[in-house]
Amino acid sequence: MAMLWEMARSHMLEAGLSVDTAISQADLWPFMGGPFSTNMHCPLGPSVYSPFTFRNGPKCPYAEAHNQALGKIAAQPAYKMYKMIIDREDTERKKR
Ligand SMILES: [Zn+2]
Repeated sequence: MAMLWEMARSHMLEAGLSVDTAISQADLWPFMGGPFSTNMHCPLGPSVYSPFTFRNGPKCPYAEAHNQALGKIAAQPAYKMYKMIIDREDTERKKR
């Protein structure tokens, strides 16, 4: 999940997308060397991660604990730039 979120950051910045634009795994194939017949999914089951926004990150369809773990990762210092990117866009939006 963290890998997907990280690739989504690169894709969003490169393509000039909003933090609220839905990003699918197919959008991220160039970062993975795809296309793939099977997209990334949780080890707990076969459902692939649904499209997600950079603001919210990917969601696990099987375990809320996995989503909470991703939230904890996002609170770590290395991920502060995530909040900075979102805050910057929100600030720019308010000016318009
Ligand atoms: Zn999961």
